[in-house]
Amino acid sequence: FDDLGRDGKPARLGIMGGTFDPIHIGHLACAEQAREAYDLDGVVFVPAGNPVFKKDRVVTPAAERLEMCRIATRSNPAFDVSAIEIERGGDTYTVDTLRQLRAHYPDNVELRFITGADAVYHIVQWRESAAIADLARLIAVTRPGYVLSEERRAFIAEHGNFAIDYLEVTALAISSSDLRERLARGKSIRYLTMQGVLDHIQERGLYETGSSDEEGGVR
Ligand code: ATP
Ligand code: MG
Repeated sequence: FDDLGRDGKPARLGIMGGTFDPIHIGHLACAEQAREAYDLDGVVFVPAGNPVFKKDRVVTPAAERLEMCRIATRSNPAFDVSAIEIERGGDTYTVDTLRQLRAHYPDNVELRFITGADAVYHIVQWRESAAIADLARLIAVTRPGYVLSEERRAFIAEHGNFAIDYLEVTALAISSSDLRERLARGKSIRYLTMQGVLDHIQERGLYETGSSDEEGGVR
């Protein structure tokens, strides 16, 4: 969406950050429902280069995660994938990504950062969370297994000047962890992600038994 806002018209860009190891229909459905609910002109998926919170396990090479995102989003003209976090190198910080996007787009483009109920609770621990609050409004979508109680919402509100919209989306109890675990055990993940992603995983022999951290029970 390079040209977004260049015609002078106000626009809204959704940003979906994540490790996407691998991308699944939970990610896709919440991006789509956020797009629809907040009238977003597009949603850009930004796979993390080097996720700081996932250093306790081996993450699939960035190029593969990027490719799987591209394959999964290909059929939706309102979806795009950006390699900015991967190309930047070093540890991935959301604030750097938002600054880069802010600098890229004209002021009439509003940034909306989409996160699941689990991730938004951790935002207060993110580097430069106050700067994040200045750069983008947040869309916190519901996720099965994670309750954003009044207490938690109050905790978030106390910790920064965040503008957050809470959005209920179709409950899909799907996680990349669960997909990796199934694959490591040779179980099917069909219908939990796009068929093209499945084909890519198979072709490249990703997440095979032995190549996964789940074998050792470390998570
Ligand atoms: P992992 O199990 O490896 O942490 P994940 O499924 O949580 O993988 P991430 O790449 O960590 O996927 O998540 C990216 C973003 O998508 C986060 O904001 C997360 O909260 C959100 N998300 C992931 N799965 C869902 C889901 N099923 N419903 C709603 N939000 C989700
Ligand atoms: Mg996660």
